Amino acid sequence: MNQSKPQSALYFTRRLIIAFSLILLNVSICRPTMASPQTEQKAHLLFPIETYFHFVLREKKLIENGTIPFPQVLFSSETNLAQFQNALKDQWGFTPDQITNAYSIKTNEIYLLDDAHYYEKQNTCMDDSLVHEMTHYIQSRYQKFDLNDEMLEIEAIEIQQKFRSQFCHP
Ligand SMILES: [Zn+2]
Repeated sequence: MNQSKPQSALYFTRRLIIAFSLILLNVSICRPTMASPQTEQKAHLLFPIETYFHFVLREKKLIENGTIPFPQVLFSSETNLAQFQNALKDQWGFTPDQITNAYSIKTNEIYLLDDAHYYEKQNTCMDDSLVHEMTHYIQSRYQKFDLNDEMLEIEAIEIQQKFRSQFCHP
């Protein structure tokens, strides 16, 4: 009986280590590319860009139209602020002071913040932000909607959350 105490303490420690490992594993599943030593600071997409586009089309029950130009996706780490400001200032009515996730109607560009820490803190992944902005692209280019409509933001959030629950946090 004397031995049971240290054994249970050891057992508890092992359980704790396993629990911690699972937490770490879960994080690495969510952001698999962050494990790479050269890209520690940058978030990376899990799938090719077209995957996010097709996800949104399916959700909105629309079909692809090859005559509508596909948006260019630009990552914040590879983009200068002036380009972002020029693309968004008229649409937003002010000049943004940093690059954030956004769809520019004027330039048909999707900007993505690829700072891994940002998503880590928010407990989200960059992929669902791309789904959100891709939804705005489709609302604008496919459906010709005015993006100032609040309902369109709600729809973009809903599709984003659906993607997130399926792919970012299994
Ligand atoms: Zn939005």
